Amino acid sequence: MQEKHNKKSATPQEFTDNFAKKAFGRSRTDSKKQNICVVCNASCKPEDFKDDLSAQEYQITGFCQKCQDEVFDDPQNGTLEEDPD
Ligand SMILES: [Zn+2]
Repeated sequence: MQEKHNKKSATPQEFTDNFAKKAFGRSRTDSKKQNICVVCNASCKPEDFKDDLSAQEYQITGFCQKCQDEVFDDPQNGTLEEDPD
């Protein structure tokens, strides 16, 4: 059996870059160069994050602390899993 890999395999970095470009008009890489949030342009210096994990998350997503809190820690959602209805 032959498997064809026609799917273009993008790295997570490429994926978030493309996502950010489409969604926000600039890439995560561009924002990171300037240490700003890809979403809201807030300052993203190491001291702007509450912990190392959040600082690392910025390296991956380009989201500032505030945007990470909104995306990942929304108390109203509680979980990212969809409710089976
Ligand atoms: Zn932000």
